[in-house]
Amino acid sequence: IGERTMQVILNFTHTPRGVFIMWRDITDSIRFEEQKDAFLAELSHEFRSPLTAINGYAELLMYQHSDNDKTHGMLTLVKREAERLERLVDNFLDYQRVNYSEELLSMSTFALRPVLEDVVAHYKATSPQHDVILSADDVTIEADEEKLLQLLHNLIGNAIKYSPDGGTVYVEMTIEGDTYVLSVRDTGIGIPSDAIPYVFDEYYRVDSDAHRPIKGTGLGLRICKRIAEAHGWGIHADSVYGEGTTFSIYLYSHSTTSTTLLTEQETT
Ligand code: ADP
Repeated sequence: IGERTMQVILNFTHTPRGVFIMWRDITDSIRFEEQKDAFLAELSHEFRSPLTAINGYAELLMYQHSDNDKTHGMLTLVKREAERLERLVDNFLDYQRVNYSEELLSMSTFALRPVLEDVVAHYKATSPQHDVILSADDVTIEADEEKLLQLLHNLIGNAIKYSPDGGTVYVEMTIEGDTYVLSVRDTGIGIPSDAIPYVFDEYYRVDSDAHRPIKGTGLGLRICKRIAEAHGWGIHADSVYGEGTTFSIYLYSHSTTSTTLLTEQETT
């Protein structure tokens, strides 16, 4: 094979009646993909840096104005919205850039409960109009912790977003046989049964009177599914329209490590 010419030898076990071969030089499209990846990586960095600064200073100011309810309230809002933008940027840019696969995961072994506690504490602080309740056995799992966090934020963020004020979000970890089931359940607006098969599709958004006023990109659940699949986990949606929704992640035994079980279930 030379640089510009190519010789092809075809071996047939019988005399073919016809052969159709098509060649296309894909050098340009590969180069374009590489440039796109580099551009998105750069963009992701450029977007994140100012958001990290906004978050950091908002937190500092919140601390300095902890005795002034009004200012503290406004700063909480700044911080919450900056965090939301950060997650949107993460979701959108990751989605464009990364095709999650097993090789791309950065796996480690860690206790699940403290991770859940941190995420739940975050939503308790930033969404005081909702109740967020954790109930989880203490198990050790093997996963990409960052990606698991992204998945949890997408699911819990949705549970809050699609629940009117006063709603409750339950984050639960149970053991079913040799499977750990991690679920996020809400008492929100729910999803009509005919829409359930599509919620993990990219850019899909439920078109109902209750959903329409709530903003979103339709990418969050697609990303959750990619993350789950890259780990070899299952993900499932279950809902009663008007009553609430449950998203369950099935962490099969082959992708989990030994358990350090606490026999009693704690609730925070
Ligand atoms: P979005 O950014 O639009 O929230 P997602 O991919 O996260 O996108 O979710 C897809 C769609 O599924 C949403 O637009 C919404 O219609 C529906 N949905 C997701 N989670 C919930 C939930 N907890 N309760 C009700 N509807 C939900």
